[in-house]
This record gives sequence, C-alpha cells and structure tokens, in this order.
Amino acid sequence: MSLYLENVIEATNRKNSNEPEFLQAVEEVLATIKPVVDAHPEYEKIALLERMIEPERIVSFRVPWVNDEGKVVVNRGYRVQFSSLIGPYKGGLRFHPSVNQSIMKFLGFEQIFKNALTGLPIGGAKGGSDFDPKGKSDNEIMRFCQSFMTELYRHIGQDVDVPAGDIGVGSREIGYLFGQYKRIKNAYEGGVLTGKDVCYGGSLARTEATGYGLIFFMREMLKAHGNSLEGKTVTISGSGNVAIYACQKAFAYGAKVVAMSDSNGCVYDENGIDLELIKQIKEVERGRISEYLKTHPHAQYIERTDEDSPVWKIKTDIALPCATQNELTLNSAKALVENGVIAVGEGANMPCTIEATNYLLEHGVLVAPAKAANAGGVATSAIEMSQNSMRFYYTFEEVEEKLDRIMVNIFNACKEASDTYGCCGNYVAGANIAAFRKLAKAMKAQGVV
Ligand code: NDP
Repeated sequence: MSLYLENVIEATNRKNSNEPEFLQAVEEVLATIKPVVDAHPEYEKIALLERMIEPERIVSFRVPWVNDEGKVVVNRGYRVQFSSLIGPYKGGLRFHPSVNQSIMKFLGFEQIFKNALTGLPIGGAKGGSDFDPKGKSDNEIMRFCQSFMTELYRHIGQDVDVPAGDIGVGSREIGYLFGQYKRIKNAYEGGVLTGKDVCYGGSLARTEATGYGLIFFMREMLKAHGNSLEGKTVTISGSGNVAIYACQKAFAYGAKVVAMSDSNGCVYDENGIDLELIKQIKEVERGRISEYLKTHPHAQYIERTDEDSPVWKIKTDIALPCATQNELTLNSAKALVENGVIAVGEGANMPCTIEATNYLLEHGVLVAPAKAANAGGVATSAIEMSQNSMRFYYTFEEVEEKLDRIMVNIFNACKEASDTYGCCGNYVAGANIAAFRKLAKAMKAQGVV
C-alpha cells in the first residue's frame, strides 16, 4: 500500500474512531483503489482522498413529537450531505432505532460511489432518525414525519438535496414528508423527494426498482460467467421493499426463492415462497414473517437466536442479503460456501462484513457489491426527478427498460475496471475503482472546494 494511502487510513481511523460502520465503508473502498491512487501521485498534494472522505456538511437536529397518549417524545434527526461533486445531494432517509452518525456517514459515503456508477447527475447523501416506526399508529407516523420535515425542509430542495426512502421509510412516510414540505414552502416542488406515490408525482416502477435492479445485475454477472438464474435456488434476507421485488424478479427469470426473513427469523418453503402472502403480511398488515405459517403450515419458521441469521444456513445457489448492514458474517459466508453457493448479490447496503466478502471471493463465489447491485433504486429516483422536471410521465415498461439498461451499463463498468486493474471477476474492486475514477476526475476539475 502506498504511503499516501496508509497515512489517509491512519488519519481517518484517528478522527473517526467512534464510528465503526463508517470506518468499515472507507476501508473497503481504500483497500481496492490502490492501483488508481498509485498511478496518480498528484492526488496527495490536492488532498483528494481526504476531501472525498470528509462530508461536506452534517446536520443533526431535535425531532419532538406527540404520541397517541399525549406524551412528548424526542428523537434525533440527521442529514449527512456528503458530496455534491456530480449533482445535488441524493440519498434515502432511514427510520430505525439503530440510526446514529456512524451509520449515516457510512451510508452517505457509499451513496457517493453508487450514484456515480449510475452515470446520472446525482451527488451523495443520507439521513434519518433513531425513531422506531414499528408498532406506531398512522397518526404517530404522520406527526413524527411532520416534525422531522419542519427542520429538514431548510436544508433540502430539488436542486440542493433530494431525500428518498430507506429502511422504515416507504411510500406512506414519503407522503407525509412531502405534504409538510409543500405546506411550509407554499410551492409544489415535485422533485424535492423521490419515492412518491404515482398519484402525486412518483415514478412508475420506483417501488420495484432496487429489487429488480439487483436481479438485472445478477443476470449480467452470471451471464459473464456462462451461467443464468434459470432453475437456481435463491435465499433472501429481509422481507421489505428490496427483498420483495428482488424475489418477484428472481421468480420471473425462472429461479426458485425458498427463504425470506425479518429481524426475528426466517421462513423456509421448499415449494417456493408465496410472494403474494409475504406482500400481504409485510406491505398491508405490517406483521411478522412468522405469520406465513398460519396459512402455509408445511413451511418451516427458524427463529434467529444470535448475530448469524438462520437464512444463510439454508442450502442455496444464490444468496441475496436485502435487510441491513453486516448481516452476513464470516460464519454465514462459511455456511454458504459449504452449501455450494455460486453467487451473492448485495441488495442491502454493506450487508457482508469485510471478512465475509473476502472469504466469499477467496472461495470463488461471485459477489455483486451493493454500490453497484442496488443502484437501481437511486437510478430510478433520478428518472423520477427528470419526469418531475419535464412534467411528463413514462410508462412502467419505459422506466423498467431504462433501469435495465442502466444496470447493464453498471455491470459493464465494474467488469471493465476489474479487468483493467488486474482483479478480473472481483466486482467489489471493480465497482469501487469505476466510481472512484469518475469522482476523482470531477474533484480535480472543480478545484479545491
Ligand atoms: P424495509 O424497511 O422495506 O425492509 C427492511 C427489511 O430488513 C425488513 O424485512 C426488516 O425486518 C429487515 N431488517 C431491518 N433491520 C434489520 C436488522 N437489524 N436485522 C435483521 N433484519 C433487519 O427497507 P428496504 O427494503 O428499503 O431496505 C433494505 C436494505 O436495502 C437497506 O440496507 C437499505 O439501505 C438498502 N437499500 C434500499 C433501497 C430502496 O430503494 N429502498 C435502495 C438501495 C439500498 P423487520 O421488519 O423485522 O425490521
């Protein structure tokens, strides 16, 4: 490793020692871009890496709201505006009790690279709150969203920063956030949020985009290695937005999804997961995945008892982690390899620990990295923004076709970079290098800002 890279890693660790997820995300990128950094000694003088690692701005704020019992509750809100190098800040909002500055920064950092890979003009950001939407009434969700936006509105705008959904933030929450923004601004700025319902400015196929995009990327990766999804067994973690639509598209390509999960445990159905039932439980009733057995008693429910999700112990050809960060540990990677997995596609952000990723790659497993493989969501958000600007809508088929093309381009960019820099077949390195080259060029062009 070059001295410059070593110094940057040392300084980053020192300055952010209490932010493990952020350090992990930075380490993963820096470990793979060495050949590009070595070829550009001028980066050191202009502190290119240091500037890429330091967020342009972090906003943290109080979110007071009143629960159904009339008690005031205070949560913490965040927006990390990481990089506006290639477009307005862009990235989702996460509502989950685990949210803290480290998680916001790791997600914002990843987002810069992911957005660069889409080839679209969008910068990188992330935001959210430690608010837990589970078990809250619709009115509580609305009051929380309104309070959150009452502070956030001053930091965003359709040419400034465009939030979207993430864990715990779906179409319902985006609706309440948009309504409050519009009320405060007294202006219909349709492009200020993406993931809107189609009845007031959302894009068709945005709901499906991340999951569909993941499968398009997987299709391309398998094709490049003489394989396909047809007839493969698939296991998926999570049963939220990304997981559900990855499952749908995997079935469409002739694969059989046999397991899905939530944070309590997983369901194994050897006949193939009944996706309509999962959608009913998760999207309509907002229930637990264990309820699957009420109507499908032949299936098995395996409760989660430790940090290793039981879903990765099930024999599969393709594993799709679509829940959260660090959910696929070294133990899980070992279990997958032992059971003959051929490919892992990251639907969630940073779902594999660094040790798990290295183990999978060392054992010849194809890994579709999150920055590339789940970029279909944000790419379709950018398509939503362009429809809002044009005041015109594309059909579902038109959006899906654009998404497919974008995912093919992303895969090709990852492949080209991994072939060029001597890490053929390692798309984790390929994605980081392809995105970094573009960002570095933009940073050099814009001077010291
Ligand atoms: P959802 O809130 O719709 O679903 C999240 C799913 O993951 C739920 O099944 C949830 O289970 C599970 N989950 C959440 N936290 C944990 C945990 N700590 N341990 C185990 N399971 C957990 O979120 P999304 O589907 O939107 O997001 C999933 C992942 O995909 C995230 O990493 C997100 O950053 C990433 N992503 C999302 C995009 C999008 O367009 N939505 C775009 C790109 C990436 P439970 O209900 O029990 O909490």
